[in-house]
Amino acid sequence: MRKIAIINQKGGVGKTTTTVNLAAALALAGCRVCVIDLDPQAHASTHLGVELDGTLPSLYDVLVSGRPMAAVRRDVGANLTLIPADINLAAAEVELAGVVGREVILREALTGMIEGDGQPASQANAYDYLLMDCGPSLGVLTINALAAADEVFIPLQPHFLALHGLSKLLETTALVSRRINPQLVVTGVVVCLYDAATKLAQEVVADLHAFLARSRGTSVPWAAAKVFETKIRRNIKLAECPSFGQNIFAYAPKSTGAADYAALAMEVMGDAAPLRVETARLVVETPPGHAATRQTTLQPVV
Ligand code: ADP
Ligand code: MG
Repeated sequence: MRKIAIINQKGGVGKTTTTVNLAAALALAGCRVCVIDLDPQAHASTHLGVELDGTLPSLYDVLVSGRPMAAVRRDVGANLTLIPADINLAAAEVELAGVVGREVILREALTGMIEGDGQPASQANAYDYLLMDCGPSLGVLTINALAAADEVFIPLQPHFLALHGLSKLLETTALVSRRINPQLVVTGVVVCLYDAATKLAQEVVADLHAFLARSRGTSVPWAAAKVFETKIRRNIKLAECPSFGQNIFAYAPKSTGAADYAALAMEVMGDAAPLRVETARLVVETPPGHAATRQTTLQPVV
């Protein structure tokens, strides 16, 4: 199982859009995916069609009351499960302030879920991908995600000052890796809201490559981090689909947004990617070739 925290302390950079649509693409490719919503704003939950009113169990009950994950999770599609958030989560930061070991509550709860909460591990608890959508802060909720994850994906919007704040974010991963989770690595940066026509976007991506290149061969968690080849272009359909509680493949399968997230999923899966994924609405094809040069073509099924 790959456990991936999707973080950036800046808001509006594409964390939730990436979590939900990458999760949907991986699920379409036949992977079993669990999304954990760690943002009190609960945008990922809403996007996946689950809106809690504060009375039903959520991740809050797992973190603060020790409720098992299995009692909170919901199936939100084929191969796709959600641990939802709600506004109660906003209080978790304060309520956990004096709790010893508060940084690793999610990690322990996950171990419980995967091992079946005392029961023998079952197929129902097995996932190929766990995607954790974080809120716009580096507080205790994001630290819980970093402590539970093996990998970090950083969505980034290529505008002026985009790299500003990245060092702080990376330092946080270094701190977590030193103190709580030595396995943690930053896999890569996903460039979102990309506009290839602008010089600025291209300059930011070049700066990003140069920035990451300076850490190669060191022992920091981002020493091997890459900029994902797939850039997520600005696409109005991606902005529209959350209000329908639908992912991009259900809402607009022929959009560039669907093509980009399908390509990103193929890149994330790497050599494990199937050559062809077919659904009622979509074919995703990976031409044979070296993983690094794979390209994804996406055509609607006619
Ligand atoms: P974050 O979770 O980092 O705060 P979101 O994923 O919620 O960011 O994205 C911020 C806003 O931008 C949302 O309204 C979302 O629908 C929109 N958005 C995200 N990615 C794209 C894109 N590639 N094209 C157009 N709109 C996008
Ligand atoms: Mg978000």
